Amino acid sequence: MQTTREDIAYRKSHHMKKTLMIPRTNPSWQPQSWQEELSQLITDPRHLLELLELDMSLLPLAQKAHKLFPLRCTHSYLQRIEKRNPKDPLLLQILPLGKELEQPEGFVKDPLEEHAFTPAKGLIHKYHGRVLLMASAQCAINCRYCFRRHYDYIDNTPSRLQWQPALDYITKTESIKEVILSGGDPLASADKVLFWLLEQLEQIPHLHRLRIHTRIPLVLPKRINTALTDRLKQSRLQQVLVMHCNHAQELNGEVGQALNQLKQADVTLLNQSVLLKDVNDNTQTLVELSESLFRYGVLPYYLHVLDPVSGAAHFDVKEEDINALHREMLALLPGFLMPKFVREVPHEKSKIAAV
Ligand SMILES: *Cc1c(COP(=O)(O)O)cnc(C)c1O
Ligand code: SF4
Repeated sequence: MQTTREDIAYRKSHHMKKTLMIPRTNPSWQPQSWQEELSQLITDPRHLLELLELDMSLLPLAQKAHKLFPLRCTHSYLQRIEKRNPKDPLLLQILPLGKELEQPEGFVKDPLEEHAFTPAKGLIHKYHGRVLLMASAQCAINCRYCFRRHYDYIDNTPSRLQWQPALDYITKTESIKEVILSGGDPLASADKVLFWLLEQLEQIPHLHRLRIHTRIPLVLPKRINTALTDRLKQSRLQQVLVMHCNHAQELNGEVGQALNQLKQADVTLLNQSVLLKDVNDNTQTLVELSESLFRYGVLPYYLHVLDPVSGAAHFDVKEEDINALHREMLALLPGFLMPKFVREVPHEKSKIAAV
């Protein structure tokens, strides 16, 4: 008898059932759903240091910085961090550090002055033809360099009913062709919320595109499931997903699977990174990032120079080093793997070339 697809699917699901029966006390047990993994984040600095077998002398300052902007990390992301290495480039993106308590001049709470471009709650309209909609207050991971680390999400992220003014603004502003779902992380929302929002947007005739800015395919890859990709595939809107990968070490097989599913749903995959001191501020790391991204079917889009948000000054890369990195990358990469070096300048009509 021939083996059919259904056979294979059945065997797979049967096998899944078996693994589901492993008791929770088993140390190799993995959360089975993305919601479960999202509810089991690492949020205690001591726990993080223990899991990664790091020196406990880091703890007092980590706890202080954690009070300013809490630690949040998924188990999936944690598995890609090297143990006993305080300089691991992924660890540096999530570990609260004493340096965050420093207050150097020029680093402020709202570096982009976004409050000036908010025509409706949860909506930022800064550039022609596209708006940014805060679709979720949550992230699966808190990135220490985040320019929204001081953002008042509770105040600015509308619940379903409160989205109406933003939707009304988009509907009456016919120049808007593209809605960008941002946050927080828009994919941290439940399908129900996300699909409802998508349905509202699909009904606005002048919209052509939906763009999703997210770190979820990297930090919680199992969230990219068939319910989501099937829904995206059905949409009349063209879709672009911009993921935020800063280092090739963030990419692994699980991430590759999630990206493949998105590609199958005809989603265009782009990446933007932030240039971060000691994480990715050297030519070899950035070249490897571009090359790896392309192997995973993703094109580099932007490399952002750090926004001067207070608490993140230690990630800042000097102007002359940025210029040198740009020059060296150009000499090593094909043009289509060269990200645009940009910075965000408040009140400009687009992102501005950084070199
Ligand atoms: C970055 C950004 C966009 C998107 O800009 P692109 O250059 O199209 O990627 C849109 N709105 C806001 C508020 C942004 O910060
Ligand atoms: S996922 Fe994005 S919005 Fe969330 S903390 Fe990281 S950089 Fe900030």
